[in-house]
Amino acid sequence: MSVLPGQLAPSPRLLLGPGPSDAHPRVLTAMTTPLLGHLDPQFLQIMTETQELLRQAFRTQNRLTIPVSATGTAGMETCLVNLLEPGDRAVIGTIGYFGKRMVEIARRTGAEVTVLEAEWGNILDINRIRETLKAVRPKVLGLVHAETSTGALQPMEEVGKLAHETDTLLVVDAVTSLACTPLEVDQWAFDATFSCSQKGLGCPPGLAPVTFSERAIAALKGRKTPVQSWYLDLSLIESYWGGDRAYHHTAPISMIYALREGLRIVQEEGLENRWARHLRNQKALRAGLLALGLQYTAVEGHQMPQLHAVRLPSGVDDVAGRKLLLSEFGIEIGGGLGDLKGKAWRIGMMGYNSEPKNVLLLLAALESVLSRAGVKLTPGAGVAAAESAYAAG
Ligand SMILES: *Cc1c(COP(=O)(O)O)cnc(C)c1O
Repeated sequence: MSVLPGQLAPSPRLLLGPGPSDAHPRVLTAMTTPLLGHLDPQFLQIMTETQELLRQAFRTQNRLTIPVSATGTAGMETCLVNLLEPGDRAVIGTIGYFGKRMVEIARRTGAEVTVLEAEWGNILDINRIRETLKAVRPKVLGLVHAETSTGALQPMEEVGKLAHETDTLLVVDAVTSLACTPLEVDQWAFDATFSCSQKGLGCPPGLAPVTFSERAIAALKGRKTPVQSWYLDLSLIESYWGGDRAYHHTAPISMIYALREGLRIVQEEGLENRWARHLRNQKALRAGLLALGLQYTAVEGHQMPQLHAVRLPSGVDDVAGRKLLLSEFGIEIGGGLGDLKGKAWRIGMMGYNSEPKNVLLLLAALESVLSRAGVKLTPGAGVAAAESAYAAG
């Protein structure tokens, strides 16, 4: 293919970091189809379809289910600024970097925030959550389901019921869990849930799917003060996505095309099959990484399938190692965040990318990078361990 001077020609990459992960080719094709106006009847139909597909992916009947026009963090901000007012009490659980971000955003609403902290790599114990809710009686409890900074998956099945006993709204960061690991918004009684387009859904970054329960909508309607952010005010956004299609902001048309296609692919595969695919590839990648002598930052039994955070062996330079992976193999992985900066690598196997060929390629490339950094390894050990995990089923 000939390239004009200055024409964009990014090198081929395999995006195996914490996001973005590669977009499905069908998603990229959908994005190149012609624009429609944001109030065109055909586009309104596409919006309705996208909302229905989003409900299926979230496993919810929530009518207020929309993609916010910005990245996952805007989803976090949307949930918190719509539910919290100055003086409200909030409890935010932090098991890593993204929990801390939630604390920061909650504080900026003027809420009184109680931080419930677990050590990085660990999860929050349900009894501690119960005791804190009883002691604080907050309006909102915020938790991160899949903490991408440590690779830990917080068990969420029981929390919603617990929150409702103290009349608390449960806000959940499902940015890295949607379409990767079991996520049951209705069954687990979540009140406000947010995610992103670029991790499990195999789309580019740019949208933040958000879903609000009837309880959360009632809290929004019962506010005494206007939502501090005009752009993220869900009662305004809903009048575009919901009933009267009133102009609020210009929807990012091509991104909605992308999301719709990404969600159609999820629907075709089936959520259960998709979760099972992530688990299968987790087992193999985990076996391979352990065979390379790498240790997980997340505690045993709570490691998520879609993101593997491992400690760097001594003597391996974080930046140099990742540079080599990128320049020689075209593979991107992530470095550590916060407490784990310079100490861990984060490997994503999310959505479209969660495939055996990527697991095997990454293990071979990692072996090469690690052994060049002086780590003593049995040649082929990582790939062999992954192959036997696949063979074992
Ligand atoms: C990626 C991520 C976010 C932030 O999403 P952006 O799209 O980068 O704004 C929030 N929470 C978690 C758990 C994440 O992994």
